[in-house]
Amino acid sequence: MSSVLIYTVLAFAIIVIGLVIGLVAFINGRRQPPRRDLPRSAPTGTLTEERPETAPPEAQPPVITLERPEGTAGRLVRLRQRLSRSQGGLGRGLLLLLSRDRLDEDTWEEIEDTLITADVGVAPTQELVERLRTRMRIEGVSPADARLVLREELLALVDPAMNRTLGTTASDGKPAVVLVVGVNGSGKTTSVGKLARVLVAEEKTVLLGAADTFRAAATEQLSTWGERVGVGVVTGPEGSDPASVAFESVRTGVETGVDVVVIDTAGRLQNKAGLMDELGKVKRVVEKQAAVSEVLLVLDATTGQNGLVQARVFRDVVDVTGIVLTKLDGSAKGGIVVAVQRELGVPVKLVGVGEGADDLAPFDPESFVDALLGD
Ligand code: GDP
Repeated sequence: MSSVLIYTVLAFAIIVIGLVIGLVAFINGRRQPPRRDLPRSAPTGTLTEERPETAPPEAQPPVITLERPEGTAGRLVRLRQRLSRSQGGLGRGLLLLLSRDRLDEDTWEEIEDTLITADVGVAPTQELVERLRTRMRIEGVSPADARLVLREELLALVDPAMNRTLGTTASDGKPAVVLVVGVNGSGKTTSVGKLARVLVAEEKTVLLGAADTFRAAATEQLSTWGERVGVGVVTGPEGSDPASVAFESVRTGVETGVDVVVIDTAGRLQNKAGLMDELGKVKRVVEKQAAVSEVLLVLDATTGQNGLVQARVFRDVVDVTGIVLTKLDGSAKGGIVVAVQRELGVPVKLVGVGEGADDLAPFDPESFVDALLGD
């Protein structure tokens, strides 16, 4: 009897102890903090398998901030600064010679040499020297007044009476069309890009035509210029017919109602007949839709006599209405302005004075002459 009782008590005690242990384990289990090394939602496996519940935000297109090109006033200030840096030597040299007490034959010869070295050209140089000789002698100009006389005569040589207005005004509800021609390397494509900025600064709507399809980088280069100021660019595949790109550009320009279409043409100077065919075709197809209002010839000022030879070829194949003289910042031979105007009978309308985006300025004879004199 007593052993039965003992076993019963023992069994009861084991059950009670078991229950207590079970209860404690249950309570501890509930209090355990969640494991931090796995996400609570991860069913199994590693973190890389985790999928966010929401879709990733869609890739936003990059925000393009359009540049605001500089207006005419700022460009003219830069024109003077750059030109007086590159051309100042010419005017100062002439002034030093003219201010000598005695103007003998040797001095006049030195004056002539200075002008010819600066690419003014033989005929204009002789004219200028003749006029200076007469005025210094007859008017009895004192060395102190030499500057005034030189300024007047240089200005007359540059011809301020020439009309330098750009043909960029739309008419008959159609855009003005500007063809830009010139040999490769003259700065043609760059000048088209810079011109777009000049026009945007004048609040004109512009479309560019990348018809220089033969130079690999020209189309891409022009597209970048356009993007920077929010100007559209019509392009064609490399090596395609420049005339078809020109046609498409003007068609799009008419359709979208822009003020000006500027067309960069192919700059291969293979031979006169080839050039005539190419530019002639471009002009013909463009004129089926809108009149060409301006043909700008781009010339590199650093090429001197070579530039004049090129200018003659272009004059013979297309009616050039204005000259863009580039790289005047990199040459002390600003006299080319006079020579090229004489050669073509066409005004210099724009000048490039650096590689910066707004380093293209309207050509202003007074600023030019003042820069020559180092003012
Ligand atoms: P393209 O072959 O005639 O279209 O020539 P680009 O437009 O590609 O220009 C040729 C080079 O001349 C580029 O490196 C331009 O940055 C440079 N260039 C163009 N205009 C000027 C200018 O007015 N001054 C200077 N210093 N460089 C210029």
